[in-house]
Amino acid sequence: MTDTTVTADSTTHASERPWLDATLPVEERIDLLLAQMTLAEKVGQTHQVANIDPDADAAEIAAGRISSSLYASGPTGGNERDEGVLVGNIDAAQRHAVEGSRLGIPLLFGRDVIHGHRTVGPVPLGIAASFDEGLAEQVGEIAAREAVVDGVAWTFAPMVDLSEEPRWGRVAESLGETPVLSGRLAAGLVRGFQGDDVSDPDRLAACAKHFAGYGLAAGGRDYDTVSVGENTLRNLHLRPFKDAVDAGVTTVMAAFNDVDGIPMHAHEHLIREVLKGEWGFDGMVVADWNGVGQIVNAGVAADLREAAALAIRAGVDLDMCGGAYLAHLGELVESGEVELALVDDAVRRVLRLKFRLGLFERPYAARPGASNAPTPETREVAMRAGQAAHVLVKNDGVLPLDLSSAAAGSLLVSGAFVDDGDALLGTWVLDGRGEDVVTPGEALRERLGDRVTVADGRFSDVTLMQARGAETTVLLLGEHRSRSGEAQSVVDIGLPPGQLEVLRAVAAFGKPLVAVVYTGRPLDLSEVLDLADAVVVVWHPGTEAGNALASVLLGDVEPSGRLPMTFPLTTGHIPTSTHQRPTGRLIRADVDHKEGRYIDALTYPRLPFGFGLSYTTVDYGAPTVSAPTMTTDGSVTLSVTVTNTGERPCREVVQLYFRDPVAQVTRPLVELTDWALVDLDPGQAREVTFDVCAGQTAYAGRDLTTRVDEGEIVLLTGPDAARLQPVSVTVTKKDS
Ligand code: BGC
Repeated sequence: MTDTTVTADSTTHASERPWLDATLPVEERIDLLLAQMTLAEKVGQTHQVANIDPDADAAEIAAGRISSSLYASGPTGGNERDEGVLVGNIDAAQRHAVEGSRLGIPLLFGRDVIHGHRTVGPVPLGIAASFDEGLAEQVGEIAAREAVVDGVAWTFAPMVDLSEEPRWGRVAESLGETPVLSGRLAAGLVRGFQGDDVSDPDRLAACAKHFAGYGLAAGGRDYDTVSVGENTLRNLHLRPFKDAVDAGVTTVMAAFNDVDGIPMHAHEHLIREVLKGEWGFDGMVVADWNGVGQIVNAGVAADLREAAALAIRAGVDLDMCGGAYLAHLGELVESGEVELALVDDAVRRVLRLKFRLGLFERPYAARPGASNAPTPETREVAMRAGQAAHVLVKNDGVLPLDLSSAAAGSLLVSGAFVDDGDALLGTWVLDGRGEDVVTPGEALRERLGDRVTVADGRFSDVTLMQARGAETTVLLLGEHRSRSGEAQSVVDIGLPPGQLEVLRAVAAFGKPLVAVVYTGRPLDLSEVLDLADAVVVVWHPGTEAGNALASVLLGDVEPSGRLPMTFPLTTGHIPTSTHQRPTGRLIRADVDHKEGRYIDALTYPRLPFGFGLSYTTVDYGAPTVSAPTMTTDGSVTLSVTVTNTGERPCREVVQLYFRDPVAQVTRPLVELTDWALVDLDPGQAREVTFDVCAGQTAYAGRDLTTRVDEGEIVLLTGPDAARLQPVSVTVTKKDS
């Protein structure tokens, strides 16, 4: 126990605050506290402010009218403005709550710690490219350990909105398009943020967001409306949320969008009935930024008062920054329009989180002398995560680069990002610093000395002159971090202006050309794939960007990332994903591959989900199953032999999909079910096995209940969603 620990004895008499007895069960402590709270104090617990000011807000905090603060950072050090945000004030604000308020309920400090804090890993889409839950957990863990030093107790991550819409800037924050990959990686991140017990002082509360359907915003326009039926929601979009809940996530955030006309902040069916009722989620639901107030903008409430009533009925427990609850909940209860029980339920959930976090025992965050600057250990995690985000999508043999006997200036590296560390941190980085990033230029200069020329970062005629003289050119193409993320949608997923011109001009020299694509979204890479000899898609890789790139280009490690989203042929093909379901008019591969669904283009993606090469070749045998049948509650073992037929080792992502040929509703043509990361030495063959339960083929049927069909299920294995070999198994009635 440190001197910042508050015990019942140090603040008040234990008998006056019996809920401070940490030996009591949490629910009992909540009962004891709730019994003492006035309606105004209860309403105060549903109110979150942005950027709390311990000076200006002292009276409000002491009156119990603030429950939580968003964006505060720094336990001590003053109440200074840093780029407009108050920092160094957390413990001062907390003191008003703990020592100055009637009941001493601590404040909860939240902040967006998305893919790292000071040490930054790849954007979530890059983490997803690793297909590695353990790595996701490690990224979450180092982020938590660093964030608590700044007084953060709660992060708004992971985002688990399924993404099939690359125009939408927030796909960068997502874990890709498939429910199983998103769900498993989200569970990894939740474990990393929260640990085994969220009361661990080195961990954070996590938040699965944005519930639900946000990834379907019309036209990829952020915040836009969503038209989706409950069947599709249940069979796709709700699933990763369920996985996060099963992994113990302590909070869930409501989404800005509506679902089929009902704003999510007013969606009683999905929040109160499905999330809290059907799934038994006992954690806290937080609004998104002024999401309660925005019900008015959506034209579904006349004013803030009505919006507050709709949101509390829907099950939104904490009002982020809108002030609707603080202004109106008390009066809504007094007038009988809102039942007190609804407010009690919201407050119970807020308090449950505060008790679970151990805030009543340890309200203060100061850790004298603690630092959260990147260390060799945290950089090592960021390095592995950065490497694992590299997806090699083309290689004519130029990679890995062999520069062992190269002359000075043999390699030219050019492009906007050569020495711009900040650009490579990715979206939603509040605390990572550009100066902590090892840039591609730095890393390659360090490794190659005068064998590499690093152009000054801007494409220009000088780039062309240097490329003409070099043996090999590496062009760093793609998006700056500010071009993806929230409110950063685009109408065209082509490369930003000017980049293709340079690519074309350099390609015309006819010398080996490597394109490295930094991006927060799938881009239209058709011309890049045509012109470059090798193409690596890297997303925004974070603090170790340069070292990770150098290690992959020079072959210290093998590229092993796989695409977590389908890359469309062009913008006009969006959406295209593994969510594709069969239609009455099937596309026949023999005929329609030429004709397709459009008269002016093919219908198929440019790069399929799950695609990625390594520096070797891998052969897949045909899958076999241990038995031709399994009961609806049974399982079979599927085996497939993979062989490294090349001369370098690799990490293969062996993928398992399934198709349900006859179901109650249309089902995806292929759906990712499982995968295995398999390390193979040159020439090595390994038999990979998957335990396949009939339950993994479950889906919501016509009446929306979950069912497992009897009949044929096609299991498919291969290196990506487009190169699969099938084996059938028949699901039979369960033995009675
Ligand atoms: C975003 C959330 C984020 C919140 C707080 C909102 O605009 O949609 O994802 O957690 O702001 O920063």
